[in-house]
Amino acid sequence: MMQLFIPLNFLGFVYREIRGALANIERMFGLLDKVPSIQDTAGASELVPTKGELRFNNICFNYDERPILNEVSFTVPAGQKVAVVGESGAGKSTLIKLLFRFYDVDSGSVTIDGKDIKQLTQQALRQSIAIVPQDTVLFNDTIYNNILYGRPSASDEELKEAVKLANLSDFIESLPNQWQTKVGERGLKLSGGEKQRVSIARAILKSAPILVFDEATSSLDSKSEQAILTALKVAEKGHTSLVVAHRLSTIIDADKIVVLSQGKIAEQGTHQQLLLQNGVYAKLWRIQNEQTITL
Ligand code: ATP
Repeated sequence: MMQLFIPLNFLGFVYREIRGALANIERMFGLLDKVPSIQDTAGASELVPTKGELRFNNICFNYDERPILNEVSFTVPAGQKVAVVGESGAGKSTLIKLLFRFYDVDSGSVTIDGKDIKQLTQQALRQSIAIVPQDTVLFNDTIYNNILYGRPSASDEELKEAVKLANLSDFIESLPNQWQTKVGERGLKLSGGEKQRVSIARAILKSAPILVFDEATSSLDSKSEQAILTALKVAEKGHTSLVVAHRLSTIIDADKIVVLSQGKIAEQGTHQQLLLQNGVYAKLWRIQNEQTITL
């Protein structure tokens, strides 16, 4: 039924959005001023990986000859959740940019299901990953179309289900024109937490084998934070997830935590293992807990 309400220019919307998808992901990373330098390799595969096992194999990367990542290796087994933590500037977001091939590694490789991402078309690569970025881009359009952007071919039932799982149903019901409320640049402004849940709904709808969550640096109130974490847990189910975390309390349940320091892996393990190790992670954990107690 809801499809009856879709504006007539919907096909145009889909066309524009698909064309703009690449630019939009780049906008999320603030990369629009960069000249795209990565091209599809001749004979690259259009097949979208299905299992989602992700490997960073001994990767080195420099920005303008400044070393950023140095011999970084870790695996995210299919269906598991790995979190990357570390001080500001340690190279966490750079890892995500390399995964999306905004830049190519200087040496080493990134593979999905054993295939070097350079051997995939950029379209296949981006179809295999759903991202919940720090700052969600909303288009100047209805909330309906903004969420449908996750997978324009999705049915209304799938869309509603994704919205429910992302904890957004009540919010949409409370909007002045419900699903047809205009949001974004000239429409209603959404809070940081609501925007991240829109991203999660898009990710659930996309249902790509790999989910990347880039946690916002600024903290939200604890109710929004909880709503996001609950939604995220649903989105992660059955998918491989890579989480860049700033608040360690959000990743206690990760199968593995990779601690980056000055571009190298300082340590890796589960939350409990790393606390027992009493190294960089344990120190970060103590600092964050002291901050929470004094707040
Ligand atoms: P934060 O927690 O603050 O987001 P991060 O661990 O994600 O930090 P990155 O964004 O990966 O860190 O940055 C790693 C280093 O690379 C930083 O010193 C940063 O200044 C530098 N850097 C990031 N982007 C670029 C760029 N486009 N050109 C040159 N240097 C960059």
